[in-house]
Amino acid sequence: MLSFRIAIAVVIAAALAGCDSEPGPQTRRVTPVVMGTTARLVAVGEEGQLDPALSAARAEIDDVNERLSTYNPDSELSRFNAGGENTPQLGWSTMDIIGTGQVLSEKTGGAFDVTVLPLVQLWSEAGKAGRLPTEAELAEVRQRVGYQRIPVTGPTPPDAAFYWDGPAIVMMARNRKGVPYVQITLDAIAKGYAVDEALAAVRRAGCSAGLVEIGGDLRCFGRKADGSAWRVGVESPWEEGKLLMTLSPPPAGDGELAVATSGNYRRFVTIDGVRYSHIIDPRTGRPADAVPSVTVIAPTAMAADGWATALSVLGVEKGLELIEHEPGVEALLVTGQPESPRLHFSSGFKRYVVEAD
Ligand code: AMP
Ligand code: MG
Repeated sequence: MLSFRIAIAVVIAAALAGCDSEPGPQTRRVTPVVMGTTARLVAVGEEGQLDPALSAARAEIDDVNERLSTYNPDSELSRFNAGGENTPQLGWSTMDIIGTGQVLSEKTGGAFDVTVLPLVQLWSEAGKAGRLPTEAELAEVRQRVGYQRIPVTGPTPPDAAFYWDGPAIVMMARNRKGVPYVQITLDAIAKGYAVDEALAAVRRAGCSAGLVEIGGDLRCFGRKADGSAWRVGVESPWEEGKLLMTLSPPPAGDGELAVATSGNYRRFVTIDGVRYSHIIDPRTGRPADAVPSVTVIAPTAMAADGWATALSVLGVEKGLELIEHEPGVEALLVTGQPESPRLHFSSGFKRYVVEAD
């Protein structure tokens, strides 16, 4: 039996300013369905800026989806995954995102892994068939998984178009896949990346503030039209609509905040009455079910998205230990039961909390 629901674990808590008949900044928002989930795009600025800003933001999201979706067989990544050894090269921008994933893999000892796709598919098919994968199936698939299978080297050449702020570059670039059998999913960071790109488009359009949220991954900047700060609710993993707390950007900053939530309560398969998360521990080949919900604040939505998935695998102790060494990254892990939730915070998380229930 397959149960499948899309997560929207971060919701926007505060209502936006209402109808804009007064002079001053105006607000416009749209709530399209994109990347298989609901999104919220908000622009604040002068009347003439709003529609172009939202259209540009939407175009960025569609572009990311066309390149990175693993559900669309025609996406750049799906064509790469379907090909053999002589698969055409991936674009620089996609390489850059893979590189970000590789850095996260190294930091997390492989808890995060962009090559996990065959395991994701194995567990998804097992869910549809209503039976656990056999040890033989797991062993076979695990041979094709492992971020080390993508060769990396450094330092980055000065003329590289796929430069990123990390110690290594992905060498499968150039003109072919390079490594047979490797398949890549960027699903654990693509939504965050799309949020970053879409919000950058709102800024470029000259807006004074904006917010983009896709399926629980969110980033905002500036202040709402009424001058108040954006507020972001963190939802309980067990009860839709019930907020555990509300977050807000630090008062001293420019209103910038990026937040992502990963959880195994909205997306899972059920086999023999047991729920298995859609997040896989690549080190064991099995679903990571220890933490019902992880919320991460980071400098970008892509980083928040990636860390939220990684911490779901690492668990409370190891996850929080790692986060303490990451500048600008804070986390909240929710464990326990609906009637007795346990909240585990990194040392700086509470600076962002404005209310706790
Ligand atoms: P998220 O919802 O951001 O936590 O991303 C989860 C999605 O990323 C899953 O549906 C898989 O496609 C993929 N995924 C699962 N486990 C991992 C992992 N350990 N590292 C990277 N991606 C993963
Ligand atoms: Mg993620």
